[in-house]
Amino acid sequence: MELPRPYAESRPLSVEEVDLDGPGENEVLVQVAGAGLCHSDLSVINGSRPRPVPMVMGHEAAGIVRDIGPGVKGLAPDDHVVFSFVPCCGGCPMCAVGRAPLCEPAYEAAVAGRLLHGGRRFSVSGGGEVNHHQGVSGYSEFTVSAPESLIKIDKSYSLEMAVLFGCAVMTGVGAVVNTAKVQPGTSTAIFGLGGVGLSVVLGLRLAGAYPIIAIDRLENKLALAKEAGATHVINAAEVDPVMALRDMTGGGAADVFEAVGSEKVLAQAYAATRKGGRTITVGLPDPARELRIPALSLVAEERQLMGSYMGSCVPKRDIPRFMRLYAEGRLPVDVLNSRFIELEQVNESFDALAQGEVARQIIKFDI
Ligand SMILES: [Zn+2]
Ligand SMILES: [Zn+2]
Repeated sequence: MELPRPYAESRPLSVEEVDLDGPGENEVLVQVAGAGLCHSDLSVINGSRPRPVPMVMGHEAAGIVRDIGPGVKGLAPDDHVVFSFVPCCGGCPMCAVGRAPLCEPAYEAAVAGRLLHGGRRFSVSGGGEVNHHQGVSGYSEFTVSAPESLIKIDKSYSLEMAVLFGCAVMTGVGAVVNTAKVQPGTSTAIFGLGGVGLSVVLGLRLAGAYPIIAIDRLENKLALAKEAGATHVINAAEVDPVMALRDMTGGGAADVFEAVGSEKVLAQAYAATRKGGRTITVGLPDPARELRIPALSLVAEERQLMGSYMGSCVPKRDIPRFMRLYAEGRLPVDVLNSRFIELEQVNESFDALAQGEVARQIIKFDI
């Protein structure tokens, strides 16, 4: 697989001791049980998604509340929580209309490397402050977050598996059930089968889509997609996926998802969508890239091009409901987890992710 660009100056990640203050007002101390390695972490590491460094990375995690600061409501020590990588404030114009992933104060805090209410609690002695990653910073045994970043979950669930609901499952399943609201029997396809793409497959199965055609360049990913519920697979390293998809569906699928984060693959997904269909993009491309599509086709063929960030989820509504479906066997997310790793293995594990050898890997802490 082609890397978006060579690893930049910040690689490799260093594993070291840092100081953690707090929790301050409207902040919560969490002991992290586990944290996932996601492609958008790679985008931060390789510089295509600029964020202020030094930073404690990790935006997909779960843990146990250990202490709360003044003003925190609805959370108490010993609560089990999943982190939401967008801490939805609940009061801005976007939150007010239910568009939680577009929360404006949350975006400003993320770009500044701060918590939602402005705090920065990591530091190194003599080296100054260290930034937070999306208000989560899950690659740490302990972290401080805003209460808006934390979704309380039932204590009966496995905390290690709950990790996956913070990014992969919200993003992938949410894209199907919230953004696209896929109807039973709809012909569907998904380009790119990492943790998010496989979650799209799980969501499509849940929604009753048929067929569910999964496309990737790696056989191991296609095998995982079948396990997750794909009814057909196409190896894009062997055949032209657009032609193959059009052949299989009689002119293109109705709802086609893109989870690679490549404008070239998005153009392929659009070309593989039938007239009147919808192309839903979930992957994060390099911000410098532009998409070229035939402009006339949007009108003359009544096509829709839809963006989906964090699966258009409202985390407080969707994480608990997706976890209930997991507990009932309706959303078998175990297929996403390739292996548990130690924090010290983080660099070799990002290499494995970049090479496409694995779907999700979860750093597991002793807790
Ligand atoms: Zn992610
Ligand atoms: Zn908001």
